[in-house]
Amino acid sequence: MTLPDPLSLPALHASHGGHWLRSASGGTQAVSKGDAIMAAADTPVLMLNAPLVASRLGYPDLSGLDLLEAFAFIHPARFCVPTPRGLAEALGLPPPEDDAAVPELLQRAAGALVAACQDPEWFEREGAWSAVQSLERLRWPWAQVLRPHIAKPEKAERWLFARLPEWEETGERPAPRQVELSTEAVQAQLARLTGEGAEQREGQRAYAADVSRIFAPRSAPGRPHLALAQAGTGIGKTLGYLAPASVWAGLSGGTVWVSTFTKNLQRQLRAESRRAWPVKRPDGTPPVVVRKGRENYLCLLNLEDALQGGFAGRPAILAQLVARWGAYTRDGDMIGGDLPGWLGTLFRKRGIAALTDQRGECIYAGCPHYRKCFIERAARDSAQADLVIANHALVMVNAARARDPNQRPTRLIFDEGHHVFDAADSTFAATLSGQETIELRRWIMGPEKESRGRRRGLAARLADVASYDDAGAEAITAACKAGQLLPSDGWLQRLAENSPFGPLEALLAAVRTATYARDESGQEAGYAIETEAAGLPGEVIEAAGRAAEALASIRVPLIRLGGRLEAILSEPPDWLDAQGRARIEGARFALAWRIELLAAWESLLDRLGGPADPEFVDWLAVDRSDAREFDVAIHRRWLDPMKPFARVVLEPAHGVLLTSATLTDRTEDDDLWASAIARSGAAHVEVAPLLSAAESPFDYAARAEVLIVTDIAKGDLPALAGAYARIIEASGGGVLGLFTAIRRLRAVHGRIADRLARAGLPVYAQHVDPIDTGTLVDIFRDDPRASLIGTDALRDGVDVPGHSLRCVVMEQVPWPRPDILHKARRLAGGGSAYDDRIIRARLAQAFGRLIRSKDDHGHFIVLSPAFPSRLLSAFPKGTPVLRVTLDEALQRVRAGVVQEASEHAGGTLPS
Ligand code: SF4
Repeated sequence: MTLPDPLSLPALHASHGGHWLRSASGGTQAVSKGDAIMAAADTPVLMLNAPLVASRLGYPDLSGLDLLEAFAFIHPARFCVPTPRGLAEALGLPPPEDDAAVPELLQRAAGALVAACQDPEWFEREGAWSAVQSLERLRWPWAQVLRPHIAKPEKAERWLFARLPEWEETGERPAPRQVELSTEAVQAQLARLTGEGAEQREGQRAYAADVSRIFAPRSAPGRPHLALAQAGTGIGKTLGYLAPASVWAGLSGGTVWVSTFTKNLQRQLRAESRRAWPVKRPDGTPPVVVRKGRENYLCLLNLEDALQGGFAGRPAILAQLVARWGAYTRDGDMIGGDLPGWLGTLFRKRGIAALTDQRGECIYAGCPHYRKCFIERAARDSAQADLVIANHALVMVNAARARDPNQRPTRLIFDEGHHVFDAADSTFAATLSGQETIELRRWIMGPEKESRGRRRGLAARLADVASYDDAGAEAITAACKAGQLLPSDGWLQRLAENSPFGPLEALLAAVRTATYARDESGQEAGYAIETEAAGLPGEVIEAAGRAAEALASIRVPLIRLGGRLEAILSEPPDWLDAQGRARIEGARFALAWRIELLAAWESLLDRLGGPADPEFVDWLAVDRSDAREFDVAIHRRWLDPMKPFARVVLEPAHGVLLTSATLTDRTEDDDLWASAIARSGAAHVEVAPLLSAAESPFDYAARAEVLIVTDIAKGDLPALAGAYARIIEASGGGVLGLFTAIRRLRAVHGRIADRLARAGLPVYAQHVDPIDTGTLVDIFRDDPRASLIGTDALRDGVDVPGHSLRCVVMEQVPWPRPDILHKARRLAGGGSAYDDRIIRARLAQAFGRLIRSKDDHGHFIVLSPAFPSRLLSAFPKGTPVLRVTLDEALQRVRAGVVQEASEHAGGTLPS
């Protein structure tokens, strides 16, 4: 292979194992932290992931020529794991052998990127020349390096907004035909999808047959076909449901929605769906669409605003890089789509969020980019799609308040179905908090201070309505006047000083005082505290009454305004063209949502002083993080969130499947299904669900071992950290460590990371490394010697088959946190049996990370002597469980490595 010439600039690499500097002319040296910082301060140096290098050096202001930024400019929308090894792979260079070889790689990678700019075949050339001019004006350090190598195009380039295609308005899709699926058709489709000659899996065939029954015509309104399917890991669940879904979509002309909990599964589903559907239909429309909440997509209007001066300094550079990506992205999805997850963290601020439509300020057809808008395109495409891949929260929000009721999903498959309860819990929650109310104020009145952005309030957004319709104008003025009663900038400070302004701030101040006064948690400052909303002091009740009146005074003019918009739509004036109409419809929809929100808050406040409603759990909270208060809130949750779920999602649907590898309880008594049925909402639509179970084909008894370590005492942090370090050494990396508390995670990481890095065993950590979780998992997957430690999110979101994950370590039994909501549900759900069910489910999910394919094998270790035997049924039948000392556990882990080393690449044993 011919290697590109290195770029002659100094290069710096810092890891937990040390710091290495290479001069412009060559020659790498290990240097001290101080020398590394001095070098970076003196001249622009090449580095990879500047925030990470800064955190390794403990010098937050570090800057330099970050190769990730150059990569994002030259190859926008391309995947790259942000590590030396990942960068080498993305650029087709040999990976570095060790840390000391990294600076040379950085120089070669820079050379390769410069060479790409000169390559006549450079795929992402269009737009680069104009962008680099703008970036030079913004003093982007790379601009000077790259500009001489980017040729000026002969004709003027199409700018992003001209390059994007317009979506087409299409007619409404007719209602799906009522069809019966034959077993033969489903099985034949399954055979086609799994591929010629693929081994026929009995479990998968039976699973597909069971799933196909949800597509039968419904026999009574409000009573969908409901199936609950336990699908053991490895049965081929995805193709098992895509087979009947694709047959039904083909025959009926309808849309099937598959909803997932993790972005990772969405990505996999998109890939798997290619077996059943082409990328495009003959008419150019996509049969499969990934659909997410609007806050995930790039808002072109926000981007335009950012490019035209709305952003300054580093965020303005980010906007330019996002504009480069915007021209090449598949679908405009910024969170978990093809925008690198690491790009936002390179710029340290909330730049990415500011480029999405976070606050529902979209002006729909009033927007000059409406016909190119990614969000509008996804909505239109999904209305015509055969398969929509979405997430639980979006499906529920969409069912509750879709703009177009005809677009509500009627055939629904909830994969990762064990998360539906939690997703319903948050979707149907009501929270009246400082953060939420200030958001509402900004939506009504616009930002308070002179801000650079385009964000505007209701009056500006509906100026044309106000000038045409007096009653509408009065309603807007009244809403804006009443909106001043909501909290404003600086509210937290005023609460802390006990000088609240207005009735809502007064309520929040009373809530805060009551919460602190009743706090018995003994928690040190820095963690959230809460108290039941029962027996509240008179001050809170009185403040709640005044706050409810204030909220009503906002809601009433908003209702009047909604009425005026309706009137304009039903008797349209001459000036109202199709675009104006779409915009007013959008505004009416946004208004209805706020009116509903205000009504929910008022009802929450009305009940505060009265008797408790057994349907709900209400409590007050002060949210704190790292010793800083960030919100004060009154919360309301449904005791059983599947009740609203049943009304909003199940009742209107015709067929629904909840499926997962951990749907049923892993108990030793017979009642495996009781909790899955209770948590499906079936009882609320009076439907007896079809129950289906397919056992995993994996040989857990031969391929996995559960080790319960008995000699690490609870609370002994040095022992815990030592145990993690020794397990990682024994396993040679490939460890996924799960913690129940961030504090312990950080403390353990702080004690072990340097030592392990020096042994070539990097440990990445959620809540420590400035890297988003998705990227951390990519890094972990990519490097078999890396380990990853984190909290709950990793229990489900990590799908790493093969050699990179060979040991899962839990620091302790994952008991549920005894907060107010948990205590209420525990009381209603059978006391300690309820807790046990939760713990078994968590253990089963964590164990599920270990064996992802039939060739995987490894250890599942719990570092806690207090592991009740009744919880052992959480693990698959036949899995050996041993109670051992740490030394014995290490021997077994090493023995596992011996087996692996010979099976894999004939590698060497770790010392
Ligand atoms: S239509 Fe709305 S979301 Fe789309 S670009 Fe315009 S303002 Fe942004």
